Amino acid sequence: MDAQITIVGAGVVGLAIAERVSRDFSDVFLIEKHATFGQETSSRNSEVIHAGIYYPMGSLKSRLCVEGKRLLYDYCKENDIPFNNCGKLIVATSGDEIPIIEAIQKTAFNNGVDDLSIIERDRIAELEPSVFALKAILSPSTGIVDSHSLMKSYETGLLNNGGQIVYRSEVTGIRRMAEGYEITLLDSDNNIFRFTSRVVINSAGLTSDKVSEMAGLGDDKLKIKFCKGEYFRLNPPKNRLINRLVYPVPVHNLEGIGIHVTIEIGGGVKLGPDVTYLQSNIYDYKVTPSKQEAFFKSVRKFLPFLEYDDLSPDMAGIRPKIQRQGDPVMDFYIREESERRCPGFINLIGIESPGLTSSLSIANYVRKLINI
Ligand SMILES: Cc1cc2nc3c(=O)[nH]c(=O)nc-3n(C[C@H](O)[C@H](O)[C@H](O)COP(=O)(O)OP(=O)(O)OC[C@H]3O[C@@H](n4cnc5c(N)ncnc54)[C@H](O)[C@@H]3O)c2cc1C
Repeated sequence: MDAQITIVGAGVVGLAIAERVSRDFSDVFLIEKHATFGQETSSRNSEVIHAGIYYPMGSLKSRLCVEGKRLLYDYCKENDIPFNNCGKLIVATSGDEIPIIEAIQKTAFNNGVDDLSIIERDRIAELEPSVFALKAILSPSTGIVDSHSLMKSYETGLLNNGGQIVYRSEVTGIRRMAEGYEITLLDSDNNIFRFTSRVVINSAGLTSDKVSEMAGLGDDKLKIKFCKGEYFRLNPPKNRLINRLVYPVPVHNLEGIGIHVTIEIGGGVKLGPDVTYLQSNIYDYKVTPSKQEAFFKSVRKFLPFLEYDDLSPDMAGIRPKIQRQGDPVMDFYIREESERRCPGFINLIGIESPGLTSSLSIANYVRKLINI
């Protein structure tokens, strides 16, 4: 075998896995089609370290988020990655939202998030004088992280462990052999290369379903639907009025968690993301200026100081959803595929939020699935 372990995709999750497995194995290769890491979903998100509040009890999303959050804070401290444990409020702006936030607190408690408190108007006014809410959940363990520095640090770790990264190379074919897999690569000069690997880890984000199909593991239930999320920016100087993350109550089936207010490490504030399932899987990162009205109306409920011209279009990201529009929430799909006759092939599909928060716990989880 040319490689022991090949990981497809250098987003934050593929990088974390590569760094983790290269501690225990030699000949680890990370393959990425772009010229550098994190050119897709991993650099088009809210950069929030989620507490693990919303996800169904016992799901991978819930378990890996709660564990990943702790690991990520420790990792950031040890490796000088900029982060801010700023906390977050989930606000009830009408009477009928109060039972919803009470229910959220219970779900979170069952998921091991036991540090939430429900606070009243006077305490809300102390913490966020510019925010309107009747009641709010305060989540002290939520924060933000500089995702670029985090990915750079994972990449450095991988290289220091003796692993290798191959950029500008797209995996175009995977053939199962008696032992291991033959992988076909197409580089940016249209050269084709083939090599063999005992283990293949598919961490290809938006095209992870396609990479799985290459190995003969097509599955209609695991087809990715591109689900776009757009952001608007809160123009200075009003960005200074917000000190922590502020969220409305979430959409009922977690297609999104509501247009929220996210602060950035550099002090900026953005609003979003909204939720739009795209008609087809195209990389559409355009921000729609005509959505400004909807963003304004949705956030003004809890930011009464907001005026229409305080917003400007910012950026967009695309969620790799396996949940179809209107369906119940789906969990991360992370499996070693021996049962489907592909031993040593590990699939990660539908790694939407909280994938960034969970990158280190996902990496540990995947490490345990490797059996060579
Ligand atoms: C709008 C939005 C907001 C979000 N906010 C948060 C948040 O606040 N907190 C949080 O925890 N999570 C958040 N997430 C989720 C988080 O961004 C993702 O879970 C995470 O970035 C997924 O990382 P990844 O490595 O799996 O995928 P990606 O970053 O998509 O990386 C996959 C990589 O695989 C490469 N690739 C694909 N196919 C091939 C191939 N055939 N050959 C070679 N390379 C290939 C791609 O080029 C890409 O670089 C958000 C997501 C979105 C869209």
